[in-house]
Amino acid sequence: MFENLSDKLQRAFKNITGKGKISEDNIQEALKEIRVALLEADVNFKVVKKFVNEVKAEALGTEVTDGLNPGQQLVKVVHEKLIEILGGRSPEIKFKGKPPYVIMMVGLQGSGKTTSSGKLARLLGEEEFNPYLVPCDVYRPAAKEQLITVAGQVEMPVFDSREIEKPLEIVRRAMKEARNIGRDVVIVDTAGRLHIDMALMDELKELKEYLEPDEILFVADAMTGQDAVTSAKAFHDALDITGVILTKMDGDARGGAALSIKKVTERPLKFIGTGEKLDAFERFHPDRMASRILG
Ligand code: GDP
Repeated sequence: MFENLSDKLQRAFKNITGKGKISEDNIQEALKEIRVALLEADVNFKVVKKFVNEVKAEALGTEVTDGLNPGQQLVKVVHEKLIEILGGRSPEIKFKGKPPYVIMMVGLQGSGKTTSSGKLARLLGEEEFNPYLVPCDVYRPAAKEQLITVAGQVEMPVFDSREIEKPLEIVRRAMKEARNIGRDVVIVDTAGRLHIDMALMDELKELKEYLEPDEILFVADAMTGQDAVTSAKAFHDALDITGVILTKMDGDARGGAALSIKKVTERPLKFIGTGEKLDAFERFHPDRMASRILG
């Protein structure tokens, strides 16, 4: 595993004793450690560069507070800055207008879209909502079956789309059914592909136009690092996503992708997946992610 950034900074500052201001001289090595730590945590290099410059500007001249040595002081600046970039507060799902509200789940195949759809339905179902799951991947029958199974496991109703071949027809009928049976949040699990392609984007745009979703959540696999950032940008450019779900955070990914995706899309991370089990899902907390990135 990685050496804790905090320890590294202590090392970088070992020659500076006593209190005082953080200066250009004593900060160089520490900034290098921060740069390396962020790159190791898989943060995009451009994001790292900008971030380190901002930390430097903020840290220079900072009074070293009582009880903290310059190393700890700098960790504090880095931590606060990370939280700020990650969005500060834990973001909410935003519903507008009248129910049934619609959440479109989008992302590449294997990112954890279907699993996260079920997890999200479970989580919202524990609150005041009555979710309804809609399998809309018409290219892989197994994907529809999978969501139907997951729905059973989280004990949520699911629209049976197995006999319907056109995505638009599925959502048209599913919305009608949701109204009929009084469900107020419709979660649409859209098709994924192994790679981004225009046909998929066109289909998603068409669905978006029809559904006018309250949320379009891009599901990204944290273990894929920079690839997740690239696809986040492509989906955002095409669909104007409203938020991000980062899955597989139970793996050893340090979470740098969270920072990069946030910077690239300027959309909040809303949830993280922390395991294969359907209750391994939580709201995103910027402070926890910042600690994880710092190691
Ligand atoms: P989809 O193709 O995007 O719908 O992806 P799936 O929902 O089928 O997920 C792909 C694989 O990732 C499955 O084996 C899931 O169990 C697994 N998975 C999804 N989310 C998580 C997570 O948060 N942690 C772990 N460890 N596995 C996950």
